[in-house]
Amino acid sequence: MIDCIFCQIANHEIDATIVYEDEEIIAFEDIDPQAPVHVLVVPKKHIHTLIDLKENEGEILEQLVGVAKTVAVMKHVDHRGFRFVLNCNPEGGQTVYHLHAHVLGGRKMNWPPG
Ligand code: 5GP
Ligand code: ZN
Repeated sequence: MIDCIFCQIANHEIDATIVYEDEEIIAFEDIDPQAPVHVLVVPKKHIHTLIDLKENEGEILEQLVGVAKTVAVMKHVDHRGFRFVLNCNPEGGQTVYHLHAHVLGGRKMNWPPG
């Protein structure tokens, strides 16, 4: 999708620090990290929000979770612990309207989140 920053990263049109990539998914460092580990896991297909994900696209969520686990292992937070976050729509805290999940770790996470 034109003007979508995550599509542009997925297409290698703008730079990001990529930590994982396959045919369907790309994972890269968040530009404004909220924890020592803060990686965004993004399907290459443009899907606006979690609510827009169709029933027959459930495989994309499986892939997001699988890559998030791979990233957690790569970043050595798998056993220490990490957080997998998916913000949806304004009150969910979504600011980039291309489906993505956050992998946050390397410090103690607070609960409940603000
Ligand atoms: P959201 O609030 O939509 O769940 O998360 C969007 C995330 O994307 C934010 O954590 C923000 O820092 C990150 N972000 C926004 N623009 C860019 C960018 O151009 N490059 C990278 N690497 N991260 C970005
Ligand atoms: Zn997009």
